[in-house]
Amino acid sequence: MNLYEKQRERLAAELQGKGIRDERVLAAIRKIPRHLFVPEALAGQAYNNTSLPIGEGQTISQPFTVARMLELLALEGGEKVLEIGTGSGYQAALLAILAGQVFTIERIESLARQARKVLDRLDIYNVNIRIGDGTLGWSRYEPFEAIVIAAAGPEPPPVLLQQLTLGGRMAVPLGDHEGAELVLLRKTAGGLEKQVVDPCRFVPLIGKDAWPG
Ligand code: SAM
Repeated sequence: MNLYEKQRERLAAELQGKGIRDERVLAAIRKIPRHLFVPEALAGQAYNNTSLPIGEGQTISQPFTVARMLELLALEGGEKVLEIGTGSGYQAALLAILAGQVFTIERIESLARQARKVLDRLDIYNVNIRIGDGTLGWSRYEPFEAIVIAAAGPEPPPVLLQQLTLGGRMAVPLGDHEGAELVLLRKTAGGLEKQVVDPCRFVPLIGKDAWPG
Protein backbone atom coordinates (compact mmCIF):
# COMPACT_ATOMS: atom_id res chain seq x y z
CA MET A 1 0.00 0.00 0.00
CA ASN A 2 1.49 3.37 -0.98
CA LEU A 3 1.33 6.52 1.14
CA TYR A 4 -1.78 7.94 -0.57
CA GLU A 5 -3.62 4.61 -0.26
CA LYS A 6 -2.83 4.57 3.46
CA GLN A 7 -4.07 8.16 3.79
CA ARG A 8 -7.30 7.24 1.99
CA GLU A 9 -7.83 4.31 4.38
CA ARG A 10 -7.33 6.68 7.28
CA LEU A 11 -9.76 9.23 5.83
CA ALA A 12 -12.43 6.54 5.25
CA ALA A 13 -11.99 5.34 8.85
CA GLU A 14 -12.29 8.93 10.10
CA LEU A 15 -15.51 9.46 8.12
CA GLN A 16 -16.90 6.17 9.42
CA GLY A 17 -16.08 7.36 12.96
CA LYS A 18 -18.02 10.56 12.25
CA GLY A 19 -21.11 8.60 11.27
CA ILE A 20 -20.88 7.65 7.59
CA ARG A 21 -22.40 4.16 7.36
CA ASP A 22 -22.84 3.44 3.65
CA GLU A 23 -20.12 0.87 2.82
CA ARG A 24 -20.29 1.68 -0.90
CA VAL A 25 -19.57 5.35 -0.19
CA LEU A 26 -16.64 4.44 2.09
CA ALA A 27 -15.26 2.05 -0.56
CA ALA A 28 -15.44 4.79 -3.19
CA ILE A 29 -13.58 7.19 -0.85
CA ARG A 30 -10.87 4.52 -0.42
CA LYS A 31 -10.59 4.16 -4.19
CA ILE A 32 -10.65 7.67 -5.72
CA PRO A 33 -7.32 9.55 -5.49
CA ARG A 34 -8.48 12.92 -4.11
CA HIS A 35 -4.92 14.27 -4.36
CA LEU A 36 -5.27 14.36 -8.17
CA PHE A 37 -8.27 16.72 -7.90
CA VAL A 38 -6.46 19.47 -5.97
CA PRO A 39 -3.60 21.76 -7.07
CA GLU A 40 -0.26 19.89 -6.83
CA ALA A 41 0.97 22.16 -4.03
CA LEU A 42 -1.96 20.99 -1.85
CA ALA A 43 -1.65 17.24 -2.58
CA GLY A 44 -0.17 16.69 0.90
CA GLN A 45 -3.41 17.98 2.45
CA ALA A 46 -5.77 16.09 0.13
CA TYR A 47 -6.70 13.44 2.71
CA ASN A 48 -7.42 15.85 5.54
CA ASN A 49 -11.14 16.22 6.24
CA THR A 50 -11.21 19.80 4.94
CA SER A 51 -12.29 21.72 1.88
CA LEU A 52 -9.40 23.09 -0.22
CA PRO A 53 -9.11 25.85 -2.84
CA ILE A 54 -9.15 24.69 -6.47
CA GLY A 55 -8.84 28.10 -8.17
CA GLU A 56 -11.40 30.63 -9.50
CA GLY A 57 -12.44 31.29 -5.87
CA GLN A 58 -13.96 27.78 -5.66
CA THR A 59 -13.30 24.76 -3.44
CA ILE A 60 -13.28 20.99 -3.41
CA SER A 61 -15.83 20.25 -0.67
CA GLN A 62 -15.00 18.77 2.73
CA PRO A 63 -14.86 14.93 2.45
CA PHE A 64 -17.35 14.44 5.31
CA THR A 65 -19.93 16.67 3.60
CA VAL A 66 -19.39 14.90 0.27
CA ALA A 67 -19.77 11.48 1.92
CA ARG A 68 -22.90 12.61 3.79
CA MET A 69 -24.53 13.93 0.61
CA LEU A 70 -23.70 10.76 -1.31
CA GLU A 71 -25.00 8.58 1.51
CA LEU A 72 -28.29 10.54 1.52
CA LEU A 73 -28.80 9.68 -2.15
CA ALA A 74 -28.91 5.94 -1.20
CA LEU A 75 -27.57 4.88 -4.59
CA GLU A 76 -27.55 1.21 -5.58
CA GLY A 77 -25.53 1.33 -8.78
CA GLY A 78 -27.70 1.75 -11.88
CA GLU A 79 -29.07 5.25 -11.38
CA LYS A 80 -28.85 8.29 -13.61
CA VAL A 81 -27.61 11.11 -11.41
CA LEU A 82 -27.28 14.86 -11.93
CA GLU A 83 -24.66 16.89 -10.05
CA ILE A 84 -24.68 20.69 -10.02
CA GLY A 85 -21.22 22.18 -9.42
CA THR A 86 -18.60 19.86 -10.93
CA GLY A 87 -15.78 21.87 -9.34
CA SER A 88 -12.70 19.66 -9.29
CA GLY A 89 -14.62 16.57 -10.48
CA TYR A 90 -13.93 14.62 -7.28
CA GLN A 91 -17.54 14.08 -6.24
CA ALA A 92 -18.40 13.19 -9.85
CA ALA A 93 -15.66 10.52 -9.74
CA LEU A 94 -17.20 9.05 -6.57
CA LEU A 95 -20.64 9.14 -8.22
CA ALA A 96 -19.20 7.32 -11.23
CA ILE A 97 -18.58 4.34 -8.92
CA LEU A 98 -21.85 4.63 -6.99
CA ALA A 99 -24.30 5.19 -9.88
CA GLY A 100 -24.73 4.13 -13.52
CA GLN A 101 -24.51 7.41 -15.42
CA VAL A 102 -23.42 10.78 -14.09
CA PHE A 103 -24.33 14.15 -15.58
CA THR A 104 -22.60 17.14 -14.03
CA ILE A 105 -22.85 20.87 -14.76
CA GLU A 106 -20.23 23.52 -13.93
CA ARG A 107 -20.58 27.23 -14.66
CA ILE A 108 -16.80 27.96 -14.77
CA GLU A 109 -15.28 26.63 -17.97
CA SER A 110 -11.67 26.27 -16.75
CA LEU A 111 -12.79 24.10 -13.81
CA ALA A 112 -14.93 21.90 -16.07
CA ARG A 113 -11.99 21.39 -18.45
CA GLN A 114 -9.58 20.53 -15.64
CA ALA A 115 -12.12 18.09 -14.15
CA ARG A 116 -12.50 16.37 -17.54
CA LYS A 117 -8.71 15.96 -17.76
CA VAL A 118 -8.46 14.25 -14.37
CA LEU A 119 -11.48 11.99 -15.01
CA ASP A 120 -9.98 10.95 -18.37
CA ARG A 121 -6.65 10.25 -16.68
CA LEU A 122 -8.51 7.91 -14.29
CA ASP A 123 -10.36 6.21 -17.20
CA ILE A 124 -13.72 7.35 -15.84
CA TYR A 125 -16.05 7.49 -18.83
CA ASN A 126 -19.57 7.45 -17.36
CA VAL A 127 -19.40 11.14 -16.37
CA ASN A 128 -20.77 13.73 -18.81
CA ILE A 129 -19.80 17.34 -18.11
CA ARG A 130 -21.63 20.40 -19.36
CA ILE A 131 -20.58 24.03 -18.95
CA GLY A 132 -23.46 26.31 -17.94
CA ASP A 133 -26.00 27.25 -15.29
CA GLY A 134 -26.97 24.05 -13.50
CA THR A 135 -30.12 25.59 -12.02
CA LEU A 136 -31.61 25.21 -15.51
CA GLY A 137 -31.06 21.43 -15.37
CA TRP A 138 -30.21 19.14 -18.27
CA SER A 139 -33.50 18.42 -20.03
CA ARG A 140 -31.99 16.14 -22.66
CA TYR A 141 -31.19 13.46 -20.08
CA GLU A 142 -34.03 13.92 -17.56
CA PRO A 143 -35.46 12.45 -15.41
CA PHE A 144 -32.78 11.75 -12.81
CA GLU A 145 -33.16 9.31 -9.92
CA ALA A 146 -30.90 11.49 -7.79
CA ILE A 147 -29.68 15.08 -7.89
CA VAL A 148 -26.89 16.52 -5.75
CA ILE A 149 -26.18 20.23 -5.57
CA ALA A 150 -22.66 21.13 -4.44
CA ALA A 151 -23.23 24.84 -3.75
CA ALA A 152 -25.63 26.65 -1.42
CA GLY A 153 -28.71 28.30 -2.90
CA PRO A 154 -31.75 30.10 -1.45
CA GLU A 155 -34.17 27.31 -2.43
CA PRO A 156 -34.18 24.09 -4.46
CA PRO A 157 -34.25 25.21 -8.13
CA PRO A 158 -37.78 24.42 -9.45
CA VAL A 159 -36.53 23.06 -12.80
CA LEU A 160 -34.36 20.52 -10.97
CA LEU A 161 -37.35 19.37 -8.92
CA GLN A 162 -39.22 18.82 -12.19
CA GLN A 163 -36.30 16.78 -13.56
CA LEU A 164 -36.31 14.41 -10.56
CA THR A 165 -38.14 11.06 -10.91
CA LEU A 166 -41.04 10.22 -8.63
CA GLY A 167 -39.33 8.60 -5.65
CA GLY A 168 -36.12 10.46 -6.54
CA ARG A 169 -33.86 12.13 -3.98
CA MET A 170 -32.16 15.51 -3.97
CA ALA A 171 -29.38 16.50 -1.57
CA VAL A 172 -29.16 20.28 -1.49
CA PRO A 173 -27.47 22.83 0.81
CA LEU A 174 -29.84 25.73 1.43
CA GLY A 175 -28.33 29.01 2.59
CA ASP A 176 -25.47 31.29 1.56
CA HIS A 177 -21.66 31.50 1.99
CA GLU A 178 -22.09 32.42 5.66
CA GLY A 179 -23.95 29.25 6.56
CA ALA A 180 -26.30 26.65 5.18
CA GLU A 181 -28.12 23.51 6.12
CA LEU A 182 -27.93 20.30 4.20
CA VAL A 183 -31.41 19.20 3.20
CA LEU A 184 -32.67 15.92 1.75
CA LEU A 185 -35.75 16.15 -0.45
CA ARG A 186 -37.76 13.15 -1.64
CA LYS A 187 -40.28 13.54 -4.43
CA THR A 188 -43.38 11.47 -3.69
CA ALA A 189 -46.84 11.19 -5.19
CA GLY A 190 -48.09 13.23 -2.22
CA GLY A 191 -45.54 16.03 -2.67
CA LEU A 192 -42.01 16.83 -1.47
CA GLU A 193 -40.73 15.26 1.77
CA LYS A 194 -38.07 17.39 3.46
CA GLN A 195 -35.48 16.36 6.02
CA VAL A 196 -32.96 18.84 7.44
CA VAL A 197 -29.76 16.86 7.97
CA ASP A 198 -26.69 18.86 9.10
CA PRO A 199 -25.42 22.43 9.20
CA CYS A 200 -22.82 22.89 6.45
CA ARG A 201 -20.73 25.50 4.59
CA PHE A 202 -20.67 25.86 0.81
CA VAL A 203 -19.72 28.36 -1.85
CA PRO A 204 -22.83 30.05 -3.29
CA LEU A 205 -24.93 28.56 -6.07
CA ILE A 206 -24.97 31.29 -8.71
CA GLY A 207 -27.53 31.30 -11.48
CA LYS A 208 -31.03 32.07 -12.67
CA ASP A 209 -32.80 30.21 -9.87
CA ALA A 210 -30.10 30.91 -7.27
CA TRP A 211 -27.99 33.84 -6.03
CA PRO A 212 -27.06 36.56 -8.53
CA GLY A 213 -23.46 36.41 -9.85
N1 SAM B 1 -18.39 18.91 -6.38
C1 SAM B 1 -17.16 19.66 -6.39
C2 SAM B 1 -15.95 18.83 -6.18
O1 SAM B 1 -16.06 17.62 -5.94
O2 SAM B 1 -14.86 19.40 -6.29
C3 SAM B 1 -17.15 20.83 -5.45
C4 SAM B 1 -17.98 21.93 -5.94
S1 SAM B 1 -17.65 23.53 -5.37
C5 SAM B 1 -17.95 23.46 -3.66
C6 SAM B 1 -19.09 24.31 -6.05
C7 SAM B 1 -19.05 24.50 -7.55
O3 SAM B 1 -20.33 24.90 -7.99
C8 SAM B 1 -18.07 25.56 -8.00
O4 SAM B 1 -17.15 25.01 -8.89
C9 SAM B 1 -18.97 26.60 -8.68
O5 SAM B 1 -18.38 27.23 -9.80
C10 SAM B 1 -20.15 25.75 -9.09
N2 SAM B 1 -21.41 26.45 -9.32
C11 SAM B 1 -21.98 27.46 -8.59
N3 SAM B 1 -23.16 27.81 -9.12
C12 SAM B 1 -23.36 26.98 -10.20
C13 SAM B 1 -24.41 26.83 -11.16
N4 SAM B 1 -25.53 27.58 -11.15
N5 SAM B 1 -24.28 25.89 -12.12
C14 SAM B 1 -23.17 25.11 -12.16
N6 SAM B 1 -22.14 25.21 -11.29
C15 SAM B 1 -22.25 26.13 -10.33
